[in-house]
Amino acid sequence: MKDNPSSGRPTMTDLDHERHPARHWHVLPDGRIQCDVCPRFCKLHDGQRGLCFVRARDGDRLVLTTYGRSSGFCIDPIEKKPLAHFLPGTPVLSFGTAGCNLTCKFCQNWDISKARAFDRLMDRADPEAIAEAALRTGCRSVAYTYNDPVIFLEYAVDVARACRARGIKNVAVTAGYVCAEARNELFELMDAANVDLKAFTEGFYHRLCTASLEPVKETLVWLKHETGVWLELTTLLIPDENDGDAEIEDLSRWVKEALGPDVPLHFTAFHPDWKMLDKAPTSKTTLQRARAIARRQGLRYVYTGNIRDPEGQSTRCHGCGTLLIGRDWHEITSWTLDAAGRCRACGEACAGVFEPRPGDWGSRRQPVTIQRHRGATARSASSASAASAGATATG
Ligand code: SF4
Repeated sequence: MKDNPSSGRPTMTDLDHERHPARHWHVLPDGRIQCDVCPRFCKLHDGQRGLCFVRARDGDRLVLTTYGRSSGFCIDPIEKKPLAHFLPGTPVLSFGTAGCNLTCKFCQNWDISKARAFDRLMDRADPEAIAEAALRTGCRSVAYTYNDPVIFLEYAVDVARACRARGIKNVAVTAGYVCAEARNELFELMDAANVDLKAFTEGFYHRLCTASLEPVKETLVWLKHETGVWLELTTLLIPDENDGDAEIEDLSRWVKEALGPDVPLHFTAFHPDWKMLDKAPTSKTTLQRARAIARRQGLRYVYTGNIRDPEGQSTRCHGCGTLLIGRDWHEITSWTLDAAGRCRACGEACAGVFEPRPGDWGSRRQPVTIQRHRGATARSASSASAASAGATATG
């Protein structure tokens, strides 16, 4: 199939070597196929792609065109996802593919999420090789990130299953814009998630992401109350778009009431990117103001990100104020939790998934070539399972 310039939708090309059968779709009475993965419900004629660009109709079926192909692999600190209460200090093998189901004008990863030339997807990586690479490089988890795993669900699920078999945990970094059946399948295999709560108005989601807020709120409530996935939230604060006191207050109040005070909230700094180059970067003062507002609303763990702010990035006991986990950027500088994840000073539990000691990965970023691990045996899988068995979940 070739691109059809007369059609409104992009079409499949000869570059789509991978045509992996996709799930979550049905045929409409008019013969089009509707994708049911996300609330966009793209309705496709033969050869057309969905808005995410990677799910496409191929004859009488829907396919995923990025299965087994990645934009690259890197070992990051888990704090970079950001996750502050999930195995702090440990390395996470991070990867993404191409495309996205949101159209955020401020996208901070646009070179990947907006990629339409699949030659960006240099790394061919089957699920077993990724899980084996994570194991061999000492990663405690694999993160589905850089672009949203919702759109490469079939690939993410197979990688996650291979990781589970080796005792490696799974982390989704997502906008949470996903339908119920697809999210059941994806999150059943996830251990932690950082979900973007991009703003707290429908206007923002409509105007800047051509999406809507309600399905995201629904996903968050479901994740918190219906699953065992450890949940943290990120709000990228954009000057004059979502950084007003009233909106931050509304967002924080909703998080406390709907999700509870223990869900960590990260306010991160925007940098001019993609189609939003006319805005200034978010100031440290704005991030600290947002953090203060959220704490006043009763949230226990509120962080600043993408700036240097040791106090705003450290964890304090909500009972007595003791510094529990000191951080400087992504580096852990102090640790005052006991083996059960409680404050050593007052005994109050800190919500999260902790081990007796933090990891010592620090702030390094290390690129990984997956091909080296292709065909490796799962010989060390059992030792990794044993290593991960000591994690304690609290809260
Ligand atoms: S996942 Fe992609 S193809 Fe499916 S509905 Fe969403 S944007 Fe459309």
